[in-house]
Amino acid sequence: MLILVINCGSSSAKYELFDVEKETTPCRGIVERIGEDFSVLKHETAGKDRIRKEVACPDHQTAIEIIKDVLTDEGGGVLSDVSEVKGVGHRVVHGGEEFNESVRINDAVLESVEKFSELAPLHNPPSLEGIRGCMKIFEGVPQVAVFDTAFHQSMSKEVFCYGIPYGFYEKYGIRKYGFHGTSHRYVSEKAAELLGRPLEELNAITVHLGNGCSIAAVAGGKSVDTSMGFTPLEGLLMGTRSGDIDPAVVTFLMQREGLSVEEMNDLLNKKSGLLGVSGVSNDMRDILKAIAGGNERAKLAYDIFEYRIKKYIGSYAAVLGKVDAVVFTAGIGENMPQLKDSLERQLRPLLGSETKFLIIGTNEELLIAKDTYGIVKGT
Ligand code: ADP
Repeated sequence: MLILVINCGSSSAKYELFDVEKETTPCRGIVERIGEDFSVLKHETAGKDRIRKEVACPDHQTAIEIIKDVLTDEGGGVLSDVSEVKGVGHRVVHGGEEFNESVRINDAVLESVEKFSELAPLHNPPSLEGIRGCMKIFEGVPQVAVFDTAFHQSMSKEVFCYGIPYGFYEKYGIRKYGFHGTSHRYVSEKAAELLGRPLEELNAITVHLGNGCSIAAVAGGKSVDTSMGFTPLEGLLMGTRSGDIDPAVVTFLMQREGLSVEEMNDLLNKKSGLLGVSGVSNDMRDILKAIAGGNERAKLAYDIFEYRIKKYIGSYAAVLGKVDAVVFTAGIGENMPQLKDSLERQLRPLLGSETKFLIIGTNEELLIAKDTYGIVKGT
């Protein structure tokens, strides 16, 4: 059964076609620079040359049309008709408190995704556009939403509530939600599989280190705590995000530097993290090169990055009591065994000899495809 997975970011739309039963991916690609003067389609079909071409793509609905065209292209498309797609799975960043699992999309779900745009203004609106585009183009095909927040809905109240007046939780939904849920879920399930242990009995700490970074404590397949919060800004040091910071720094800087709300938001989300501390780059590969060249600020950025991860793993060890596995994933986590080894050396005395340190490649798209398949099959 063919399932199409769509992942709309603020200026891109990634897609991947899965044959879930055969566990193959006939093709995948991305439409980039959506809304800019010229956009780019990159498309890969198993066993064929890659395609890269400029396209006109003012919005995400148009991106879906472009994706449909390349999938059904007479020359090289893998589909002869869109009806061969039996389900479309969408990554949706924010599902608020309404969704603790993936759901088939109907009007009520669309309304909720729209409502939570207030909490994820950069992420939910493009997803909505993508969903609307697919509902038109893949008419009648079940559409499924897979939320980044859903996996963390199992956190208990003392974990997700902030120490601010309770009324703001009720009024605005201000609480920890957590993100990257699909990745944390995928790698914790994979860890159980690899270790030959029932998921229900496994305590894992999953460390997702990409451009955005987050860490989760997972007990018996359920998230009990995670480092990202009300927004993805909280927690670890990231490519361009500050992660944890004394909130008083925010008001201080706004006053002293005369920064607007938007400028401050930009500073913390886009100009901080590895980039802000090093002054070099948000990209870990550049940071590593700069360190090799003797750049002290790059070294400091790296040291903060690693220290925070250690601190979070230590605190999640306290939360879980016993840790069976610490799992590293995503761009940095998967490509830097030296980081895993260093943390393993430092944490071994705390965690004990039983804890396995693993690197597992994440595959959020595959999990989205599987969830979609599960829902479609049951309809
Ligand atoms: P995204 O969050 O955008 O999906 P990725 O998971 O692709 O990001 O991770 C991007 C990060 O992974 C970047 O900081 C990049 O430098 C880092 N990365 C990729 N390959 C390597 C590598 N070989 N060594 C160190 N870092 C790497």
